[in-house]
Amino acid sequence: MHVIYGGTFDPIHHGHLRLAVELCDRLEVARVSLVPCHIPPHRGDTGASASQRLKLMELAVRGEPRLHIDDRELRRAGASYTADTLRQLREELGPDHPLVMVVGTDAFAGFDRWREWERIPELGHIVVVRRPGPALDPGSAPAMLLASRGVEEAASLRHSPAGCVLELDPPLLDISATGIRDRIADGRSPRYLIPDSVWDEIRRQGLYGACPDGNF
Ligand code: ATP
Repeated sequence: MHVIYGGTFDPIHHGHLRLAVELCDRLEVARVSLVPCHIPPHRGDTGASASQRLKLMELAVRGEPRLHIDDRELRRAGASYTADTLRQLREELGPDHPLVMVVGTDAFAGFDRWREWERIPELGHIVVVRRPGPALDPGSAPAMLLASRGVEEAASLRHSPAGCVLELDPPLLDISATGIRDRIADGRSPRYLIPDSVWDEIRRQGLYGACPDGNF
């Protein structure tokens, strides 16, 4: 089973990393691929460039064989659309290999605004990670997708290459990349919210307004 977990990762933090490890355990896979997006179609400018975010991610997963960085969206010109990424992976994996994409409930709530969203369940399974915030609107297309394609067990995802929706409710750390960027810009320290290696590199490069000798 191939599992991808996408986001802007601007910067990657312990909330992302913990979730990725939880996914390995709960989905019983040897590896989860983190997929940083290049130009997020639903967001404005990012705080760090694509290559800077990638470098921070590589530092964050160093020494952890279960976490892998898949930089395919950064190598593609233009906007990153999940349907394109899944299609590319489907070609690589073949028609029968289970493919899983992970999204938070916040992102899944707007799923029907994603480009080619109706194709996505044909290309892979969807794991929806419950995040704090409003529940899905019961009449919405994502709620109906969950009702019609929902499965209870992670093991069910192995029985077909695509088409199921599984909700998971793992413990989540209350950390956001926005909070980290704000902290750094204010001259405060994000230590223990991000790996030390990531923080060292942010300071070394002066990212997000960090001063090499400040933010302690
Ligand atoms: P920002 O604050 O810039 O919006 P973020 O911290 O929410 O960023 P993203 O890169 O947007 O991070 O998120 C990538 C993925 O990680 C999304 O699916 C999001 O739901 C999930 N995610 C974000 N923060 C956490 C967290 N603390 N724990 C678990 N998952 C998270």
